[in-house]
Amino acid sequence: MKSIEEISGQTRLVGFYANPARHSLSPKMHNLSFSKLGIDAVYLAFEVTKEALPTQIQAIRNMQMLGVNLSMPHKVAALDYVDELSPAAKIIGAINTIVNHEGKLIGHNTDGIGFIASLAENQIDIIGQTMTIIGAGGAATAMITQAALDGVKQIYVLNRPSAHFKTYQEKIQAIMQATNCPIELISLEDQPLVYQAVNKSQLLVNATSVGMYPNVDELPIDKEVLRADLPVYDAIYHPRETKLLKVAAAKGALTINGLGMLLHQGAAAFKLWTNQEMPVDYVKEHLF
Ligand code: NAP
Repeated sequence: MKSIEEISGQTRLVGFYANPARHSLSPKMHNLSFSKLGIDAVYLAFEVTKEALPTQIQAIRNMQMLGVNLSMPHKVAALDYVDELSPAAKIIGAINTIVNHEGKLIGHNTDGIGFIASLAENQIDIIGQTMTIIGAGGAATAMITQAALDGVKQIYVLNRPSAHFKTYQEKIQAIMQATNCPIELISLEDQPLVYQAVNKSQLLVNATSVGMYPNVDELPIDKEVLRADLPVYDAIYHPRETKLLKVAAAKGALTINGLGMLLHQGAAAFKLWTNQEMPVDYVKEHLF
């Protein structure tokens, strides 16, 4: 980590804009990486209100910041204040990273990249395979889009029949058109279709908040669908092992939590700001 004496007139700023923001692991992740690689930059978290977002994004230009990460509640609203979007961010309709190219702000979404990189780190290759994902919110959209762009053969999306279902249907239609990947939205209450989808899949993903602290005893899907040869990925990392992962592991399945996705979405943003690879092993050793 950069000591205060090392901050100079040359030191560049990267920000984390969210509300709340103080809990984030991102400052430590990026500051460890800047320090390890000798990059003269610091990363700070800012609690930014919805009202202040446009001014704070303009501040990226005014203060010649390298860029920012964005989290709730700004990932969609920020679209209106950047100059350009990456192809994936355009499809997803949300950004978690802004890169400042000499005053021109480019919006990116690295969540899906982080998900795929985290799978690769666990020797899971879903290209040309079928996956089922539970949830269709912000994280799921990024994961589905990247999987579809990277060449997954078929994606089944399971969601409860909530008020959002119709919006999810429209969003999935748009992702399908943009990527040519067949994607089917199924109600979690439609048991035969849920079973059919999971039975055809080589990967099951949870991208809902079901099972997240403090509701650690909740399962997002009927445990009978799990099987030993079905790896299970949970985007949640608090707790490190959700009930879903515990039940899947007890059946003999490979299980992976969301820490890798968190780390690799950060690594992808780091690369965009610095053009250098984040030292992920070093970060893992010191952060997790
Ligand atoms: P979001 O946009 O609010 O979406 C939440 C999803 O969960 C929606 O599909 C929602 O369905 C579903 N859901 C919520 N409560 C449910 C319940 N009781 N029963 C069934 N479905 C329920 O949130 P998000 O940003 O996508 O985050 C989802 C999860 O991913 C969170 O646990 C978050 O911590 C995790 N995440 C991890 C990373 C990482 O780097 N590892 C990054 C981002 C997010 P409805 O819309 O129908 O309510």
